[in-house]
This record gives sequence, C-alpha cells and structure tokens, in this order.
Amino acid sequence: MALLSLAKVTKRHGDVVAVNAVDLEVPAGARMAVIGPSGSGKTSLLRLIAGFEAMDAGSIRLGGALLGDGQVGLPAHKRQIGYVAQEGALFPHLSIGDNIGFGLDRADPDRANKIAKLMARVGLSPSMVDRRPHQVSGGQQQRVALARALARKPRLMLLDEPFSALDAGLRESMRHTVSDILGAAGITTILVTHDQTEALSFADHLAVLRDGRLVQAGLPEDLYHRPKDAFVAQFLGEAILFDVEMVEGVAQTPLGLVVTDRPKHSGRGQLLLRPEQITVRPGRDGAVARVIGRSFRGPYVRLTVVPLHSATREIALMVSNSTAPAVGDHVRLEFNGTAHMLG
Ligand code: ADP
Ligand code: MG
Repeated sequence: MALLSLAKVTKRHGDVVAVNAVDLEVPAGARMAVIGPSGSGKTSLLRLIAGFEAMDAGSIRLGGALLGDGQVGLPAHKRQIGYVAQEGALFPHLSIGDNIGFGLDRADPDRANKIAKLMARVGLSPSMVDRRPHQVSGGQQQRVALARALARKPRLMLLDEPFSALDAGLRESMRHTVSDILGAAGITTILVTHDQTEALSFADHLAVLRDGRLVQAGLPEDLYHRPKDAFVAQFLGEAILFDVEMVEGVAQTPLGLVVTDRPKHSGRGQLLLRPEQITVRPGRDGAVARVIGRSFRGPYVRLTVVPLHSATREIALMVSNSTAPAVGDHVRLEFNGTAHMLG
C-alpha cells in the first residue's frame, strides 16, 4: 500500500513550472530515489511534500490523510515528515545537543536522555553534545541533521542530496549508515540525488524527473534495463543506442545482428544495449570492430571501437581488465540477453 500519494502536484515559480503535474506513489517502507539533472524540480518536489511551500495545484496524501489539496495545506510541523537538506542546515549558534533536540519539548525531564539516544543511533560520540556545528566534520554535521530529523519520529524521511558535500569515500559510507539507520527504524524514505550510482545503490524504487515532469518510475532494474526513452537510458548509466530496422524481432546494428525484446516484431525503432551485455573477443575471424582507444578504469577498461562494416561513430564498450584487447586489435562481439527497444 502507498504511504505517500501525489496526484497532479504542480508548482510554478514565475514562468518556470518547477513541478509539473507529478503523480507518484511511494509504498510504505520503501526507499525511493528521485533522480534528475540539476534544475529538474527535485528540491521543489521535496519542499512541497514537507510543506515548506504551498502547491499551485494537485494533492498530497500521507497514509490516506490529505496533507495538501491545491493551495491549502497542513503546516510542515504537523506533517510527521523529517527533512535533511543538502548542507544539513544546522543552527550555528546552538550546540549539537540543542540542534538535535530542537523539536523536542524543552520542559521534558527525559530530554537529555532522548538526545543521547539519538546521538548513539546515528553514531555520534556523546562527547560531542556541547560542541557547535563548526567544531565537527561535514559527515558528523549530516549525522546531527539526521538525528534532528529522527527526533520527531517521522513517518516519512526526505533527504535532499544529503551526501553531496562530502568527499567520495565518506559519501559512500554515510549512504550505508543512513540507509541502515532508516531501514532499522522502518521509516519510508525519499532520497533526492542527481547521482545515478547513489540512486541505484540506495533505492528499491526509482523515479526520474526531467523539466519538472516525472518521466518514469519503477524498480531500479526495470528502469535500467527497460527505460522508456533515451534520456532515462543515458541518465541511469552507459548506454549504446542505435536507430535500427528490425525483422522478426532481430535488429541490424552497426555491430551485427542483435536479438531484441520485441519477438516477431518488424519495423524501425531505437535499440539499447548496456556495455555489460557485450562480450569482446580479440581476433580477426568474424571481427566487426577495431579498437581505437583504451582507457584504464580500475576493475574494467573502457574501449572505444569503430565498426568495420558501417559508417557509424565510435562506440564505447566496457571490458574486464584482464581480457581487454589492445588499441589496433580487431574484435568479435557477443551479445548477452536481448536488447531493449525504447518507447
Ligand atoms: P533541482 O533540485 O532538481 O536542482 P529545483 O527544484 O531547485 O531543482 O528547481 C527547479 C526549477 O525551479 C529550476 O528551474 C529553478 O531555477 C526553479 N526554482 C526553484 N526554486 C525557485 C524559487 N524560489 N524562485 C524561482 N525559481 C525557482
Ligand atoms: Mg536541488
């Protein structure tokens, strides 16, 4: 069942339609990533859900109850929704403890104890309680922001690119930490990011935004392997796209014949191959391409090849580091699985 339901949610900023008639269902317990390029409306969408801004049109429901309908909405502090912003947005003049306890009753005799428990939950040392935000690291600040958001026992947690200010290694470990904490608490979560790796590793549900519109939503594997269009295909990873002619489900590509996911279908269309669907074998027998570039990427090598029998542009392929051919080599290609036809 959906915990959160959005119907035709719309927000304009002057001439810009930041969020354009978005319909979205977030199942209870889900970890959803909303992904899209900068300016696609991700932050605007989260702020509407949190109640920081009013919609122009549409409705938002949480657990069946209306949070907002058209321009009328429940105030943010009554929504039971936690929010962690990109920069944490801590109060600089308050201690770590008071930042975390900001939403808790000051007269509560158990307040200090609740703050200590929240700090333990997000992995902050008790010795930090009296420090100011500028006296802890960026990763610790984000833990404080998360603890503050958890303090009010939210039914839904909204994370707006909360790891983007952290360096790569820390970003990855924070992602796991946050994911574990929210998973253990069973809190439904929406993470907003422009980073496809982050989205695919965090989420069990994905929604892709472009120009304020929801382009496609579903399971990560479905969106990755069966994207609706070239934008989603390219946004979620390396994509090899060809305009092809299909005969009985088999497409003629510059790299040879490829079986598509439209059995028995004939006609024109756009075909997607993911690099990992292609096995590269060196050799002149049956060669279809020649290697013109090779770039080392750690566990794999990114090859640039040109087809031998077609005027097509260069194509990038990923191969395992141990089997990568050299520049100048001719290669045969094997296709694994079927290629997805877009649209
Ligand atoms: P994202 O978070 O995906 O980068 P935003 O939601 O911040 O995107 O912005 C979506 C669009 O709305 C952008 O074109 C942005 O310039 C515009 N926008 C966002 N907030 C405002 C605002 N307060 N006033 C005017 N335009 C805004
Ligand atoms: Mg944003």
